[in-house]
Amino acid sequence: MYNVMSPRAEEFISDEEIQSSLSYAEQNKNNREVIERILEKASEMKGISHKEAITLLDCEIEDLNERIYQLAEAIKQEFYGNRVVMFAPLYLSNYCINGCKYCPYHLKNKNITRKKLTQEDIVREVTALQDMGHKRLALEAGEDPVNNPIEYILESIRTIYSIKHKNGAIRRVNINIAATTVDNYRLLKEAGIGTYILFQETYHKESYLELHPTGPKHDYDYHTTAMDRAMEGGIDDVGVGVLFGLDKYRYEFAGLLMHAEHLEAAFGVGPHTISVPRLRNADDIDADSFTNGIDDDTFAKIVACIRIAVPYTGMIISTRESQKVRERVLHLGISQISGGSRTSVGGYYEPEPEDEKSEQFDVSDTRSLDEVVRWLMEMDYIPSFCTACYREGRTGDRFMSLCKSGQIQNCCHPNALMTLKEYLMDYASPETKTIGDKLIEREVLNVPNEKARAVVTENLRYIEQDNRRDFRF
Ligand code: SF4
Ligand code: SF4
Repeated sequence: MYNVMSPRAEEFISDEEIQSSLSYAEQNKNNREVIERILEKASEMKGISHKEAITLLDCEIEDLNERIYQLAEAIKQEFYGNRVVMFAPLYLSNYCINGCKYCPYHLKNKNITRKKLTQEDIVREVTALQDMGHKRLALEAGEDPVNNPIEYILESIRTIYSIKHKNGAIRRVNINIAATTVDNYRLLKEAGIGTYILFQETYHKESYLELHPTGPKHDYDYHTTAMDRAMEGGIDDVGVGVLFGLDKYRYEFAGLLMHAEHLEAAFGVGPHTISVPRLRNADDIDADSFTNGIDDDTFAKIVACIRIAVPYTGMIISTRESQKVRERVLHLGISQISGGSRTSVGGYYEPEPEDEKSEQFDVSDTRSLDEVVRWLMEMDYIPSFCTACYREGRTGDRFMSLCKSGQIQNCCHPNALMTLKEYLMDYASPETKTIGDKLIEREVLNVPNEKARAVVTENLRYIEQDNRRDFRF
């Protein structure tokens, strides 16, 4: 029985509800009247239900599909402007006791080199990340209570926040670790994490059980209710996602939005971010052996429809995707991207030797952070290294209410310009700096509030002339 408020996974991700929503969408995919009505509601930019969103996803009427893309772009523009927040993943350890069939870190893989960063390694890696210009990290670790206990994760977070190298600092650490207990979530919150990220991988229970044959992750219910426990432990910024390619994308899309609806209904705050990874090749993983892969057009439509369904939720795309695909979906709704990423354990300080293999997946976009920043600016995006909200205590419902009132725009745009300026001063190549300085000059004029514009202009001068850092709204 479907119950959006229920604490039970099978009730808030009800298979029956998904099936009935999918068949409604199937029946109405050519129904102009229904789709126009949904679009009208969506154009208020307050979001739509999973059932309505799937109907848009399925829509086969060409001119209405055009309107769907235009609306996604308009929402992206309204809420995120031309800003793109930058981050990098840091893999702490690839020891893992789970048996996930799509990930080379699964327990039985003997080809892969198992590694775990020591605190000294972390200092080296994070110093290298700071020297690239990163301010925001996503920590990744396999599930292994012996090798990667919660104490190790907490110690690593403390180490990362303590490293101050030249003008560098990691100002926000997001965490992507296995589903855990309320007590452990509380400890993560106390350690000052930004977002807790956990991908569902697939919402289809039967497929989930088959794809996770062994290890604690086999427990679908425990995994699916992880965000509820995180919220209970005081973490109010959570990031959800599925791995597209594992099961049918329509099912996953519905599950993802129902999960967001559940968090909003039960805790008053929806997910902070949604990630949209697609299955990639990796050490002993052949993505082609999975039959549910999606093409680039379908992927773009998924991004657009998520943007329409949950306007206040950030959307993340990683270097799994090529430059071309990233370019296409950026204007449809993506608000955060990684750059210069290594998906091996270590590898920022020193590239991994040829005979060692510890990556989780093959990277498609292999450009440096400087190249990614330049590329974004050449397309008139503002790469942003902003981490202000979390540091100002604007998390959870405080963040969401600011978003919903539209006031967040008065923070994001100035912060993007000031953090970009820091990047240009400290890390950019001369060519990138020239392009960036011109961009900032133009974009300062777009700070709507006159007083704020004056403050930003002054702070930009402090950053350039007085070597001062870390201004924020
Ligand atoms: S997906 Fe996560 S839990 Fe599964 S094998 Fe990989 S690291 Fe382990
Ligand atoms: S002001 Fe807040 S929402 Fe805006 S970019 Fe910075 S951290 Fe994100």
